[in-house]
Amino acid sequence: MQKNNQQLLELTREPKIAYFSMEIGVHNDIPTYSGGLGVLAGDTIRSGADLNLPMIAVTLLSSKGYFQQEIDDNGRQTEQPVEWDPATYMELLGHKITVLIEGREVSVQAWQYTVASLTGGFVAVFFLDTDLPENAPEDRAITSYLYGGDEAYRLKQEIVLGIGGVRILHEMGFEIKKYHMNEGHASLLTLELLKRYKKPIEDVWDEQLVWDTDSVKNLCVFTTHTPVEAGHDKFPYDLVYKTLGEFIPFSVLHGLGGTDNLNMTLLALNLSRYINGVAKKHGEVSKNMFPGYEISAITNGVHSYTWTCDSFQAVYDEYLPGWANEPELFVRVGRIPDEILWNAHQEAKKRLCAHIKKVTGTDFSPDILTIGFARRATTYKRADLLFRDVKRLLQIGNNKIQLVYSGKAHPKDEPGKQLIRNIFEHKKYLKDKIKIVYLKNYDMATGLTIISGVDVWLNTPLRPLEASGTSGMKAAHNGVLNFSVLDGWWIEGHIEGFTGWAIGPTPDELNPENDADARDSDDLYLKLEQKIIPIYYNERPVWIRMMQNAIGKNAYYFNSHRMMRRYVTEAYIR
Ligand SMILES: *Cc1c(COP(=O)(O)O)cnc(C)c1O
Repeated sequence: MQKNNQQLLELTREPKIAYFSMEIGVHNDIPTYSGGLGVLAGDTIRSGADLNLPMIAVTLLSSKGYFQQEIDDNGRQTEQPVEWDPATYMELLGHKITVLIEGREVSVQAWQYTVASLTGGFVAVFFLDTDLPENAPEDRAITSYLYGGDEAYRLKQEIVLGIGGVRILHEMGFEIKKYHMNEGHASLLTLELLKRYKKPIEDVWDEQLVWDTDSVKNLCVFTTHTPVEAGHDKFPYDLVYKTLGEFIPFSVLHGLGGTDNLNMTLLALNLSRYINGVAKKHGEVSKNMFPGYEISAITNGVHSYTWTCDSFQAVYDEYLPGWANEPELFVRVGRIPDEILWNAHQEAKKRLCAHIKKVTGTDFSPDILTIGFARRATTYKRADLLFRDVKRLLQIGNNKIQLVYSGKAHPKDEPGKQLIRNIFEHKKYLKDKIKIVYLKNYDMATGLTIISGVDVWLNTPLRPLEASGTSGMKAAHNGVLNFSVLDGWWIEGHIEGFTGWAIGPTPDELNPENDADARDSDDLYLKLEQKIIPIYYNERPVWIRMMQNAIGKNAYYFNSHRMMRRYVTEAYIR
């Protein structure tokens, strides 16, 4: 504790950017993330540390994790809590604050995990925890499950994250120059700030004007990640009043958060000076969804060092020294001899084959074109699009392709779980003709093994639902070629036949929802048959040239160092 307080004192000396996220993937074995949002938050912090940014982060402890995934032989997913001990990785701090929930004072404490960079930079991450003896049993469980429970549970978590987060940073002695909300889950922090920046009543003639929204706006940055209206967190006002009470006058809250429900996105939009979407197209989609707001776009990136496998790290170290902290050096990828690049790829592929053998018993060959698909199992990602016409797939791919799947469905997402069962059915049906494996418990480590070990990274979201997507950027860092619907980041990264291949219509072509599956799968089969399979087996030099382009054009740009430099110049120091 002594050492810790010393360290905190050191930390609080300089004003900080405070990054708030419901989930953060700081470490593979700290199960406080569920998917892309959390891994992006982790990459943000890792780049922040590398670039020596004055940054700290706040999230929830999620002491029982998201969940541990079990899948039976029929593809039925069941969930178990994750057992992990924060004390293994983090230090418990002595500071405590309270928040009022349903009229009860709920105590909140924090654990500190420090992401340290070889450059000497570091970012402290504070994990908020309500599991304290003075709290009622139900309040002790508020920080147990990531995205668990009902609407009321979620609102309580967001009170702890947003309001509790601001209070505990204040209690620790931090001066914050910007609050960056990663998605709307943390927007209640704006209400706590409104209270703190309230003008004395005698200075103003109208009671509404004591609420100094301008000062709060100047402090807040908001990144939205959700391209559809239905995806935004909204809470009925009766629930809000029951849980939070009249935190600020109702009339003021309704003005900022919406008249029908408390819309967390609207609240953040109304109280942030800088707002952005996570890819150029997503910025446009967000502007149409929220007319009247100035919304910029900063396209996501991934942390280059974290998302490059060992064999590629070794090659980059030799031919592009300094690449990890200066991913722009990928521009010189042409210096790496073809054979060296190919061998690094085969090494990663053999590692994946060995992993598959170990966890499923299935023999995968490193000489067969391997296609990977791993991400959250949720309907819009269409994990089963490849099986839309199984006969055709078999004609094209019999003994020529093998498939690796992975991904968790949210415990309450029945259609998502059905997707997993569908893949298991096809796996049985195609047995011995097209080998398929489904690796359970998709996490950062499994992710890197799959992403770096396949030849082609498949992505089939229903447009325009993929705000950005980041797994394809990870693939590019390992010379793996993207084969994807033109949505999110791929609109910016795709050059046909050069960095990878597109599936379906161009972004400006309207795609009537009802025939999207047919059109997209037709194109998928066509390109697989006429381009991808022939080039892979017969034109290896062309394939290797494309691998170089993926690295030299895609990894060069779609990394979180570039992303963070843009947040600094456009959002943090404005
Ligand atoms: C990168 C990553 C994601 C994001 O995948 P997308 O397909 O881009 O949505 C999700 N989960 C994990 C574990 C990841 O590492």
